[in-house]
Amino acid sequence: MRLLLVEDDKDLVGALRPALEHAGYAVDCVDNGVDAEYLGRESIHDVVVLDLGLPQRSGLEVLRHWRADGFTLPVIILTARDSWHERVEGFKAGADDYLGKPFHVEELLARLNAVLQRSLKSAPSDQLRKSGLVLDSNTQRLTSADGQQHALTGIEFRLLRYLMLHAGKVLSKSTLMEHVYDFDSDKDSNVIEVYINRLRQVIGKDQIETRRGQGYIFKDTSTG
Ligand code: CA
Repeated sequence: MRLLLVEDDKDLVGALRPALEHAGYAVDCVDNGVDAEYLGRESIHDVVVLDLGLPQRSGLEVLRHWRADGFTLPVIILTARDSWHERVEGFKAGADDYLGKPFHVEELLARLNAVLQRSLKSAPSDQLRKSGLVLDSNTQRLTSADGQQHALTGIEFRLLRYLMLHAGKVLSKSTLMEHVYDFDSDKDSNVIEVYINRLRQVIGKDQIETRRGQGYIFKDTSTG
């Protein structure tokens, strides 16, 4: 999952970024409302954490502009503590959830998980179940159909989570790249092929189908 973190407080970004990356997000950070609005319109992020007090353009304005133009990406706003009017304004502008500062990073991670699951219309859970596989977002471990546990690397985890959340859909290499890497990463789309092949060694080679010239499909063989 690729996350856009919009926050002008450098210390907070410095604390949040590694925690978010550790939790399996590819993170892009911007520190002003104008860049945030522009990046949100690129539709490459799966979720946004949006501070309201920003230079150049306020978070509320950014959010209103996105929603007015039909951008539905999930947004969690960061508000001043005890500022009920900011929360009300935020929800009116189209926020999916909020967190009052200061907050514990664990709470942000839990809310991100819930917002993402809702936006993908499944039940909130730390465990993603598809086609006999169970992917745990806390431990970043995979349990395969035979009950075996597998440790995944960060990229393997992000890639598999994205595939499982979009089971049954054709996903191009460039889409997978966009949702697995952030802007600072070295990008080479051949690397996706390498990771897909590694995942196939763990979950079985037929579970991820290749559509020549189009991309990959994670086959949904279950309703869970
Ligand atoms: Ca701020």
